[in-house]
Amino acid sequence: MYKRATEVESCGICNQESEKGFYLLSMWICLSCERKMVELEVEDPTYAWYIERLRGSKINSRMLSH
Ligand SMILES: [Zn+2]
Repeated sequence: MYKRATEVESCGICNQESEKGFYLLSMWICLSCERKMVELEVEDPTYAWYIERLRGSKINSRMLSH
C-alpha cells in the first residue's frame, strides 16, 4: 500500500492543509511550521508550545515521555 501523492495532510501544529511537509513522529508538520521550529531556540516559549502540540498526539506523548 502506498499513499497517494495528491493526498493533502493537515498540519498537526497550525491545522493548515499542506502538501509539503514531513512526519515528525506521527504528526504531519507543514514546511512553514518546520522552518519556525528549526529557527526557534529551546529557551523560546514558542518552542515549548510546539512541544506541547506534539504531546497532544497519544503516540507522540508516549515517545516523548522518557
Ligand atoms: Zn503548520
